[in-house]
Amino acid sequence: MAKIEDFNFNGKKAIVRVDFNVPLDENGNITDDTRIRGALPTLKKILADGGSLILMSHMGKPKGKINTKLSLSQIREAVAKALGTDVKFAPDCAKASEAAKDLKPGEVLLLENLRFYPEEEGKPVGIEKTDPAYDEAKKAMKESQKEFAKTLANYADVYVNDAFGTAHRRHASTAVIADYFDQDHKMLGFLMEKEVKAVDNILKDIKRPFTAIMGGSKVSTKIGIIENLMDKVDNLILCGGMTYTFAKAMGGNIGKSICETDKLDLALDIMKKAKEKGVNLVLGTDCVAADDFNNNANTQICSVMNIPEGWEGLDAGPESIKAFREVIVPAKTILWNGPAGVFEFDNFTAGSRAIAEAIVEATKNGAFSLVGGGDSVACVNKFGVADSVSYVSTGGGALLEAIEGKTLPGVAAVEEK
Ligand code: AMP
Repeated sequence: MAKIEDFNFNGKKAIVRVDFNVPLDENGNITDDTRIRGALPTLKKILADGGSLILMSHMGKPKGKINTKLSLSQIREAVAKALGTDVKFAPDCAKASEAAKDLKPGEVLLLENLRFYPEEEGKPVGIEKTDPAYDEAKKAMKESQKEFAKTLANYADVYVNDAFGTAHRRHASTAVIADYFDQDHKMLGFLMEKEVKAVDNILKDIKRPFTAIMGGSKVSTKIGIIENLMDKVDNLILCGGMTYTFAKAMGGNIGKSICETDKLDLALDIMKKAKEKGVNLVLGTDCVAADDFNNNANTQICSVMNIPEGWEGLDAGPESIKAFREVIVPAKTILWNGPAGVFEFDNFTAGSRAIAEAIVEATKNGAFSLVGGGDSVACVNKFGVADSVSYVSTGGGALLEAIEGKTLPGVAAVEEK
């Protein structure tokens, strides 16, 4: 694998897989351009070297069909503005060889949404998994996926993958395409390098104590990562909606709080494993309970083991916050994924805010702190502390899979010898 910092792009055409899957409002205006800004170091380096850029991305889930609401033409101007140069647009990503051929050094071509073609994801369309012909259809689709990837590869001399958000997928543009470039002509972009390094800091270069904070609504979606972390962390805070599954498993009355009743055994098992492995498991003990799921509901502080009938825990209580702080502030490695409450409601942000503030304090004292996964990123942005933690990951699923210890296809494809 080549290294982007060492590569001279002068006179080269680089096809770059970016993650321009930015949120749009109903008028097609970008509501958050973090992902475009995240790709700029890579794109600017290539242009500054005298290279030309072919940018490819997906947007949303068009499921292999053209959908004008998900056209990347809507972000062309924003990309041009961010790069400070004009951006050409190829309305069919698989028929852009002329436009690519005509590109001169310093020029930029943006391809239309890759997922307008089912070959990008490589899943057969219009056939159920239960259909006896499914396996054949899948095989045929894998072959056309290779053709599609080859078409894209032929546009350029060099392949750069800078889309961490989709690195956990083996798609045409994120992995298969890499087969058509030799080791010296494929590489990770700067953003990907940073993301991979941040995960390494968490998994390999651990300074102790290591505190992981897992929140969000459900324990079931986080179980893989919780199990993997159990072998690594000193302190594991489990907060947010999953608190109530644990409280119920311990025999508590949780009112109408969110709960996965089929995961009570799993909760007890996590508690047992933590004990066996010497992990300090920190669960919320009190909560801000509400009589309705809305910002203006009546509230009361109560034990998570004793929530009145008809009430639900929507945020961590003061005693829990104190316990969370005690293991976050002295930590030297911190991972945060998932809020401690329904932070979207302003009256239920205290737990998540306290976690964010404790992480900032620890970071000031020399801790490495990684915040990742959509909602925790929204939290640090909401509380204005994104610049005060060590690293905010752009990846949701990709980050979680990397921390679970899985190899990311998007990284492996470029690294393969
Ligand atoms: P996840 O996607 O699993 O990370 O969950 C994030 C969501 O969990 C956010 O939208 C929060 O509003 C929600 N959440 C956090 N705490 C609670 C709670 N106590 N009750 C219901 N939802 C919660």
